[in-house]
Amino acid sequence: MNSQIGTSGLIFNEPQLWDKSIPGRCGISIPSNDVAKIELSKELTRENVEFPELSEPDVVRHYTRLSQWNFGVDSGMYPLGSCTMKYNPKTNEVQASKQEIAGAHPLIGDDNSQGALKLMYDLQVMLAEITGMHATTVQPAAGAHGELAGMLIIHKYHEKKGRQRSKIIIPDTAHGTNPASATLCGYESIKVSSDENGVLTPEAVAELMDEDTAGIMITNPNTLGLFEKHIKEIADLVHAKGGLVYGDGANMNAIMGYVKPGEIGIDVLHLNLHKTFATPHGGGGPGSGPVVVTKELEPFLPVPIIAKNNDKYVIIEDMPDSIGRMHTFYGHFNVLVKAYSYILSMGAEGLKNVSEYAVLNANYIKESLKGVLNLPYDRPCMHECVFNDKKQAQFHITTMDMAKRLLDLGFHPPTVYFPLVVEGAFMVEPTETESKQTIDEFINAVKTITQEAKENPEILHSAPNITKVTRLDEVQAARKPCLRG
Ligand SMILES: *Cc1c(COP(=O)(O)O)cnc(C)c1O
Repeated sequence: MNSQIGTSGLIFNEPQLWDKSIPGRCGISIPSNDVAKIELSKELTRENVEFPELSEPDVVRHYTRLSQWNFGVDSGMYPLGSCTMKYNPKTNEVQASKQEIAGAHPLIGDDNSQGALKLMYDLQVMLAEITGMHATTVQPAAGAHGELAGMLIIHKYHEKKGRQRSKIIIPDTAHGTNPASATLCGYESIKVSSDENGVLTPEAVAELMDEDTAGIMITNPNTLGLFEKHIKEIADLVHAKGGLVYGDGANMNAIMGYVKPGEIGIDVLHLNLHKTFATPHGGGGPGSGPVVVTKELEPFLPVPIIAKNNDKYVIIEDMPDSIGRMHTFYGHFNVLVKAYSYILSMGAEGLKNVSEYAVLNANYIKESLKGVLNLPYDRPCMHECVFNDKKQAQFHITTMDMAKRLLDLGFHPPTVYFPLVVEGAFMVEPTETESKQTIDEFINAVKTITQEAKENPEILHSAPNITKVTRLDEVQAARKPCLRG
């Protein structure tokens, strides 16, 4: 394994800028002022506002050092299951920072924004094509926001039909945002359990589906990384009782180019551009969660929608059945630009390859590690695989210990303790952008750790041992967060 990664010799301690301030020190030299001095009100004078006084190198080093405390997908493998932390090609950033795009302002009107509108219109069409759906809104700001938009659409649909329903079926493997979005729309979440193979059965859904249930929210592939193979049958029985099928498309990275959700019974679906379509994420945004719908649900989409009228791109506000606005203007335009750039640079074949390699890489890890970690669902997986700590329990080693030890070995840990249906889950999503060499290093790191669990468990209990900050008291951090640095 590469002996360089995981070393920490030149990572610095860094005080706050105020603590580094030296009175009189300045970052720039500007010519002396020949304009008459005006007295500002006392509150606005420098004496009353505490600015740190620093040179340019002080500031540059401060932020560069802070950035070195961080870890991102540009630093190394980030196999966080359910999050699709793929490498984001830099060409997308180049396109999004072009002056004519970064400087565009929505208030300059349609006539002066034809390029921006075309980009969003084309993206709407491409996302509808990729998912096999009819129409798209690019407004929602993230996956969970897309879920809320989608659930409001389902709510409006039932209202229009003349009778509101009160419940929604959600599998036990669902992402926590699913029941949260349903609750925000006033629906009660009814849990349906997956079977011993980790998937939903039509029988289990049939037992719960009734005419007071608005529909079902399904993630496919699900959060165990398994394809819901009965999806069509489940969708048919939900439709037969007048319900709708919400698809959580956060895992589209596994099926792009192979499965069109619109062809397997999904009525409304959100995508995470910041997962599948290579927009940087993990630092708190901005993201984008477009929603795609069937023809029947198009009238309920949020306003405005961008449409094409002959050769002109227009903004349509007049949609009487719309659920209303989900965001100011059109959502996070710069994220839309990056996704558009990504889709065009990959092309249709390229997007298909993404799914192929994402699935191949996850299965390679699953097969390579199943001897050393317990694999609760030993089936071919899609883009991620879920292990747990059952084999290490005899040495009193938990998933948390192994995750922390991975930091010493230079890897961001996978997702831990999710999905909830797997006790002590250790959920790995390599994505298509990691090379075989890096994946092999990760596999070797996990094997090293499982060996240490037997021979030297103390090193795992205290891990991480060589990072800047060692094991944190997470309970204390959650109960008494220190938000002031
Ligand atoms: C990430 C994710 C979400 C939520 O998306 P955000 O963009 O984080 O709001 C919903 N469902 C699944 C399955 C996810 O992986």
